[in-house]
Amino acid sequence: MTLRPKPEVPRRPTATLVRHDDGGLVWYEARGAGWRAAFSTRLGGFSAAPFDSLNLGISTADDPACVRRNRAAFAAAAGVAADDLVVAGQVHGTAIAEVGRGHRGRGAHGPSDVVPETDGLLTRAAGVPLFVSFADCVPVLLVAGRPAQALALVHAGWRGMVAGIVGEAARVLGASGAARAAVIGPSIGPCCFAVSPDVGERFEEVFPGTWRDGRVDLWETARRQLLAAGFAASDIVTSGLCTCHDHEFFSHRREYGATGRQAAVAWLQEVS
Ligand SMILES: [Zn+2]
Repeated sequence: MTLRPKPEVPRRPTATLVRHDDGGLVWYEARGAGWRAAFSTRLGGFSAAPFDSLNLGISTADDPACVRRNRAAFAAAAGVAADDLVVAGQVHGTAIAEVGRGHRGRGAHGPSDVVPETDGLLTRAAGVPLFVSFADCVPVLLVAGRPAQALALVHAGWRGMVAGIVGEAARVLGASGAARAAVIGPSIGPCCFAVSPDVGERFEEVFPGTWRDGRVDLWETARRQLLAAGFAASDIVTSGLCTCHDHEFFSHRREYGATGRQAAVAWLQEVS
């Protein structure tokens, strides 16, 4: 039996994610004391179909020049320097790499010098914009301290999620007992993430109750890892935006793999 996405209206984010439209470039913002994060959509870039238009993934078949223009436009909208982006070389694993000011610009202009083989970036340095890209996988942001002292940004596909990358990021972040915040960003929702029984059973084993009606709730599995790591429920924001439902976003599932990538960028603010 093939499960199709339910034709329900996409949920709009809570007041904690703010939608911006900068001359057609649409993005969502999350912020807290000493930190900022931006989540792109597919709207407002320069790429042609099927990467139309704000494709931020350089490891696609898109024209790299378009991707660079898109990254520059998104970075400018978010308020960071595109040349400073620190880009993860994602492999669907659970490794978290800590980066500092010396890593700024790694992977910013091409795939050759990304931070290799890591699906999570973490920094304790201000002014280091972390960058991960997605097309249904779940971006998870973790912040420790108020004002923020450390921040981690994770790319969690189903493999990384079931292997516990969110909990691993929380562990590396440390600062247990400190004030914390987390954002589960736009990604494929429980409405659309139909999986084969072998995948569903793996989730059910680790996160009971997250596999229902043939679909896995990745947002809930991220939330459970955060709760287990000591985050309070009130510290966790879920965007509620399903990339598969909502045509503002690229969706690997909806586009059968031929699509672009949106991105999340997050950083600790420099104290002025
Ligand atoms: Zn959906």
